[in-house]
Amino acid sequence: MKIAAMFTDGSGGIVDRPDPQPVEDFVLVKIRSVPMCTEYKGFKREREQDAVGFGHEAAGEVVAVAQSGRVKVGDRVVVQPQLGCGACWLCLDGEHIHCQNGRRLPEGQTAGHTYAQYILKPDWLLSPFPEDISYKHAGMACCGLGPTFGAMQKMNVNALDTVMITGMGPVGLGGVINGHHRGAKVIAVESQPFRANLAQELGATAVFDPNDENVLDKIMDLTDGLGVDKAMDCSGASPAHRLMVDALRRKGQACFIGQGGDFPLGASRDMISKGIGLHGIWHYNLSFFPALVKMINQVGDQLDKFITHQYGMSQVQEAWEQQCTGNAGKVVLDPWA
Ligand SMILES: [Zn+2]
Ligand SMILES: [Zn+2]
Repeated sequence: MKIAAMFTDGSGGIVDRPDPQPVEDFVLVKIRSVPMCTEYKGFKREREQDAVGFGHEAAGEVVAVAQSGRVKVGDRVVVQPQLGCGACWLCLDGEHIHCQNGRRLPEGQTAGHTYAQYILKPDWLLSPFPEDISYKHAGMACCGLGPTFGAMQKMNVNALDTVMITGMGPVGLGGVINGHHRGAKVIAVESQPFRANLAQELGATAVFDPNDENVLDKIMDLTDGLGVDKAMDCSGASPAHRLMVDALRRKGQACFIGQGGDFPLGASRDMISKGIGLHGIWHYNLSFFPALVKMINQVGDQLDKFITHQYGMSQVQEAWEQQCTGNAGKVVLDPWA
């Protein structure tokens, strides 16, 4: 099979690997759509060895199983990220993303990444979806819509809320779709013009530049001087974390989604006097998958705006270069082209 690689000369392309085989509960999935995430951040880095093994998002088709289990050949499935143990209380509770035990691929197998034509995955981490949803749209049930869907569920975002989302990368933009779909007023915060425009197109009521020194005043003006009901950061930048806490109304709630960043939190000033709730969200509880699929069915037009670029995996270099410009929403690869 073909998998994607970053080469020592700074280029990207594909290399050959043996086709994987199903073993025990590890099922063979033919990958049909690969949503690209933050892998491009390593593309410009110098490297001494060719790098392979990219990607954690995919939708595909079950093509072989070693034993009967939760999926069968022909099922169309979303490939869930990570390898939870499947036995601890977190996994049993649908929170496999926080599993502390982890699990490895079967001995001798290397097909654990999604920038590839095939992947091996335990059957219980494959979520079947119906025929009337395309692979391309179903793939948005990974990082495209997933983490912010989890955050919206956690904070019960609804039509009475104003929700602020900082960072309009491919996770934050998905948050705009989620918030808009629930009828909330969405305030987006982003400085990059392409992404700011796309946020507006996807339904953000206002988009503010975080470098504008009056950004907090503008948010207060839009919320009768009270602050936003709910907020989520998808940038991982410390100034955005600060803005999130400062822009929250009293008794408001916020979710940290973007990885990275540290910032000081005042126990009295930030937490106690305001009475706010802060959460960390990585993915969504697997029990939310049917609701997420229902939403994907209802926001197809939005998803076609959100997915700004599509490439064959043989053009992965071009795809990474495009992502590096910042002028992209979600970018999707076809591993068979
Ligand atoms: Zn576990
Ligand atoms: Zn991702």
